[in-house]
Amino acid sequence: MGNSVKSGIKNNSAWFIAAVFVLIAFLLLFTGFAANTDDSPDISKSPDTLILLGNEDLPPIVYNDKGTSKGVAVDIAKAIGKSVGYDIQVLTVNWEQAQQMMQSGEADGLLHINQSPEREKLYDFSDPLLKSEFSMFVRIDNTTLRDIGDLRGKVVGVEPGGYPCTLLERYEDIVIEKINNWDDSFTALSSGEIDAIVVDRWIGEYELADTGITGIKIVDPPIETHYSRIAVRKGDSETLTLINSGLREITDDGTFDKIMEQWRGKRVIYLTEDYFQIFYLRNLSLFLLLIVLVSIYFVMKYRKLSKKLEVRVKERTEELRHANEMLKAANMKLERISMVDGLTSIKNRRAFDLEFNRTWKVSLREGMPLALIMIDIDRFKEFNDTYGHLSGDQKLKRVAEVIEGTIKRPGDLASRYGGEEFAVMLMNTSADGAAAVAEEIRARVEEMGAEDGEAEGVTLSLGVASVVPDNEMEPEDLIEAADRALYKAKEDGRNRVVTLSFS
Ligand code: GH3
Ligand code: MG
Ligand code: MG
Repeated sequence: MGNSVKSGIKNNSAWFIAAVFVLIAFLLLFTGFAANTDDSPDISKSPDTLILLGNEDLPPIVYNDKGTSKGVAVDIAKAIGKSVGYDIQVLTVNWEQAQQMMQSGEADGLLHINQSPEREKLYDFSDPLLKSEFSMFVRIDNTTLRDIGDLRGKVVGVEPGGYPCTLLERYEDIVIEKINNWDDSFTALSSGEIDAIVVDRWIGEYELADTGITGIKIVDPPIETHYSRIAVRKGDSETLTLINSGLREITDDGTFDKIMEQWRGKRVIYLTEDYFQIFYLRNLSLFLLLIVLVSIYFVMKYRKLSKKLEVRVKERTEELRHANEMLKAANMKLERISMVDGLTSIKNRRAFDLEFNRTWKVSLREGMPLALIMIDIDRFKEFNDTYGHLSGDQKLKRVAEVIEGTIKRPGDLASRYGGEEFAVMLMNTSADGAAAVAEEIRARVEEMGAEDGEAEGVTLSLGVASVVPDNEMEPEDLIEAADRALYKAKEDGRNRVVTLSFS
């Protein structure tokens, strides 16, 4: 399980890193496009400089962006200049003003202008520059305006001095509304104040995307498709030749297509700087959101994991507690076993020693007499020899039962002292009291032989001693005294109780 969690986390991290890379790449991509700007031309004319005038308000083809000339036509003009070794500068001004400036000789040419018979009288035109699809923009629910002829009697917005203006002026009954501001005009179209706008499709689309005005459609096909050109003063064949050769060169070497691709291909035509900022911020917040989501995911995952761990720790603690209890029980059992004689099931020598020493101290403290009876089976060797060892064992058990059955008080202890010897400790008991107990044991065992139907039962010799312990004495002194009494009982003929006065 640990492994799968680990690999899960590993996979998630990889996924997270990949997502971050994709986002960064994404942002960089657009940052790159946003940086696609050129510097404003300084109108400082040197011999190798050509000044072209462009319309200040035809984004994305040519326009003035805070004092800088921008647009696809501007980039093309500069590329032409570069290819012929000229510095071509584009100055963006009001389009009517531009045409006047040409008349007064302030510039060398007009950038992105459509050929018309009227204009041919004033200018010579270069080879085709950009394709202009002059289209009608109408409200989305409008179905009647399909052709230029349908515009009769209608109010139509066009840019002053532009080609559509020239085109519509041929129809007397079209009410021409000159456009000074694209935003206002498209708003007017949207709200029904004017009926249509005629403009280069590319420019119209850009405006709609830029302003976000909706409810407007483009009528297909275009009213007229024209190629814009660069116009030079009539008879200025030198400039015209220069421009045409540059244009051919950048067309042939692919520069022209590259510029077009840059402006048209990536939708960047619709990205103004404001738009880009919104776009950038949106991506940034998306990115932050992603980080937050990933963090939440990990926090939740780890929380879940720690909950699982908590449960496991509880389980383990419970198991440990159980094992501990078992161990305790086993130890207690072991302790019990170590205190009990295996054959007779009464306390063994170890238990006797511990208990005797403890009781000695209690008796010493309390000033109570402590009695001891040492017991030895008479001629047990013979018994074994006669009846066999197994019968001997049985007899030992029976004797133990008798001894244990005789003593009754809580402080008393019967134990197998070793071999066929037993020791009985009697707390708070005088020598007489102990002798009485000893006598009872002796008598019961004597009777037992007859009960068991043996020809010859066993008898016991018992040595009794009792003392009130004092600080001068050792527990062993009492054992010795009882032993001595036992020895005396043997000497005196066995099957008897001898009590020794303790000194
Ligand atoms: P007495 O004490 O009366 O002098 O004679 P005894 O024959 O009992 O003397 P001794 O102490 O020399 O012998 C003790 C015998 O007890 C020897 C041994 O065979 C027997 N005995 C000791 N422990 C056991 C036991 O666990 N089982 C059996 N069957 N016999 C035991
Ligand atoms: Mg013995
Ligand atoms: Mg014996």
